[in-house]
Amino acid sequence: MQQRSIAIDGPAGAGKSTLARALAQRLGYLYVDTGAIYRTVALQAKRQGADPGNAAQVADLLGRTEIRMAYGTDGIQHMYLNGEDVTREIRAHEISGLASQVAAHPQVRDFLLEFQRSQARDHDVVMDGRDIGTVVLPQAGVKVFLTAAPEARAQRRLAELLQRGQQAQLDGILADIIRRDEQDRTRPVAPLRQAEDAVLLDTTDLDLEGSLAALESIVRERLSL
Ligand code: C5P
Repeated sequence: MQQRSIAIDGPAGAGKSTLARALAQRLGYLYVDTGAIYRTVALQAKRQGADPGNAAQVADLLGRTEIRMAYGTDGIQHMYLNGEDVTREIRAHEISGLASQVAAHPQVRDFLLEFQRSQARDHDVVMDGRDIGTVVLPQAGVKVFLTAAPEARAQRRLAELLQRGQQAQLDGILADIIRRDEQDRTRPVAPLRQAEDAVLLDTTDLDLEGSLAALESIVRERLSL
């Protein structure tokens, strides 16, 4: 039977991962966080001393990069880099910017494309990222473009980082978010953009419950669930 897929794209800090994970849980689908995969490549570049902005250096690394994903009993998506669990390490604030840099290289995107698609062949998925509705799963049963004002997104990211015990300041996060969005939107390959057939959901004035209810209702209506 054809698996069902739900594509959720949007800029940094729009709440994609929190909402996509909660939605997947409600529907009994697998949640796939594709940002984590790019973050894993970024960590590899950092560890190997490669310049994340240099396509040739990053491409050269890929042959020595084995990425695996597995779900713990807690349901959390764990990322493995050459056999080592890097789930926590890839969440460091510094890795966000590096991920955006490595994600701009076509060689990296090609390297990860089939890996992402295979997840959707084997499972019903809720997959979030930047190009899921446009490139990875253009046939997704429902596509949502999730966004919020940059200030609201920066506030949420700050709360998330502080909760994880990381040091952070609102101004710096806002500047990073704006820079990263710009980088993701203007890259020539698979830029962040709303697919023509995606539903726009702006969560600036919604809390978590309200956002989840809005998302779930869009998805249930589109998939006739
Ligand atoms: O979603 P997250 O913030 O973890 O993603 C980190 C970076 O990975 C993004 O800024 C983006 O540059 C890149 N990314 C991407 N395509 C995806 C998911 C993430 O280019 N599907």
